Amino acid sequence: MFQCQVCGSDRCHTEYVSEVFKINGKFHLVESIPATVCDCCGEETFSRETTERIRVMLHSQQQPVRSVSLDVFSFNEAV
Ligand SMILES: [Zn+2]
Repeated sequence: MFQCQVCGSDRCHTEYVSEVFKINGKFHLVESIPATVCDCCGEETFSRETTERIRVMLHSQQQPVRSVSLDVFSFNEAV
């Protein structure tokens, strides 16, 4: 059964999310990842299976579906 690691809520729903992963200094955006999202605080968790599939996908020579430019903001640079 689901229990949120952040707030302890047992209510959740499934959402498809995009997440950026940094591997060897390179950013990879993965879209449409099925995530379990806490109804209470919005914490996203991926199943072990999903995490493993992402890992395999990003470490294989699989070609990305497309490339996008990415604007990067650093919290350290903020005024
Ligand atoms: Zn929560």
